[in-house]
Amino acid sequence: MIRRIVGIETEFGITSVSARGSRALGADEVARFLFRPIVERSRSSNVFLANGSRLYLDVGSHPEYATAECDGLRQLIAYDKAGERVVDDLAVEAERMLAEQSILAKVFIFKNNTDSSGHSYGCHENYLVDRTTTLRDIAVELLPFLVSRQLICGAGKILTEPNGEVRYCFSQRAKHMWDGVSSATTRSRPMINTRDEPHADSKKFRRMHVIVGDSNMIEASTMLKVASTRLVLELLESGVSMSHLAIANPVRAIREISRDLTGTAEIALADGTTTSALALQREFLSAVKTYFDGGGCDRSDREDYAAMIELWERALDAVDSGDYSSIATEIDWAAKLQLIRAYQDKGGLELDDPKLAQVDLTYHDVRPGRGIVSLLEARGKAAKIVTDEEIEAARVEAPTTTRAKLRGKFIAAAEAAGAEFTVDWVHLKAGAGTSTASNTVALLDPFVQSDERVDSLIATFSSVP
Ligand code: ATP
Ligand code: MG
Ligand code: MG
Repeated sequence: MIRRIVGIETEFGITSVSARGSRALGADEVARFLFRPIVERSRSSNVFLANGSRLYLDVGSHPEYATAECDGLRQLIAYDKAGERVVDDLAVEAERMLAEQSILAKVFIFKNNTDSSGHSYGCHENYLVDRTTTLRDIAVELLPFLVSRQLICGAGKILTEPNGEVRYCFSQRAKHMWDGVSSATTRSRPMINTRDEPHADSKKFRRMHVIVGDSNMIEASTMLKVASTRLVLELLESGVSMSHLAIANPVRAIREISRDLTGTAEIALADGTTTSALALQREFLSAVKTYFDGGGCDRSDREDYAAMIELWERALDAVDSGDYSSIATEIDWAAKLQLIRAYQDKGGLELDDPKLAQVDLTYHDVRPGRGIVSLLEARGKAAKIVTDEEIEAARVEAPTTTRAKLRGKFIAAAEAAGAEFTVDWVHLKAGAGTSTASNTVALLDPFVQSDERVDSLIATFSSVP
């Protein structure tokens, strides 16, 4: 059976609109209000939650939520969606605190990747790979897939070109990628970051850090993004080479692909021939199908992967035919484009109309009942994968199939006892002092869900006065 740890990090955009007569707030100020309850409780804006996930605010004003380590597709969707709710809860609380200071403002949280001044923030996927894998080699082979993956899971965006031309693109992030594969910090914005930071036993594991993705809103889009990437990764790990698809200039190609909704624009390959995004995707899909039909992807949720292979093919057929109706409830860029076109038909709006920019933005608003995708979901027009109950459970409880279970149990126990603690992805430390062998446990294997050392550490909380 194949098992693989995956986690998704999401940076959110925030803004606020003050009522007439109330003072306007800067994004930094809103961010401080958002994190005030967290800082008051933990004296830090970088915390781990009892659901095993990490919530933090770096410099700037983009709250980030990183899901706990997941190993199932549905499980990951639940933890990703739970993150939207965690951050939205902070927004609701911030609105209340602001009102107490007579500042009437609505706080908006956007799960998108660009703000109005053109800054970009990310959605990273983390895939555990074996230490024996040469990360750089596999990353290089994965690149043509990632560059063209936007056809099946881009979040869609109305983009104004430098020459003033306005067009609808597949991807939010494509324009902000500056390198292919690199071990440099995320500042250089590679599509895959290979820095050696496994958050686990470095003798056994590596972590592949994919930076190129858009943040997805529709659950089915997130699921397709992760399922297809895992399948291609496993195909490559099984020894199949896709090196003949190496792209001459991935940074240029990802931009060209994003701007061409037909999927047919010519993409130059490293071997001097040309191809297209559709052809690249069809090749990867075909190789994955062979791998899958031959018994690959041996895992407990294999059926979910089969469904995603079907959706993958349907998405490519939709791009091919230009009729997106068959994927409009599942794929973000298609759902958003359908909405935009409906508004255009009704109001005779040009693509650069500010009302449509607002639709593009509100698509990513995470507030239930206000964000467009939550409204679509309520009408059965955006494909759900997990139930509301599963998302609610993921908000408070850690995944039970990975190391996150131990972290969640430890944090819940510490909080219940009012005890001091510090954790990171690997370590659990009880108490406030420096780390010692007796107060700290290192969980080097992310697949392990029970550990007597953790139980002993938790037992020390009961002696806390
Ligand atoms: P940055 O925010 O600077 O990119 P980062 O990528 O190191 O930092 P986090 O934002 O803390 O780290 O997120 C780490 C993500 O990796 C989480 O979603 C977590 O679940 C996941 N993760 C943790 N351990 C592993 C592992 N061994 N393999 C794969 N993913 C992991
Ligand atoms: Mg992060
Ligand atoms: Mg990251």
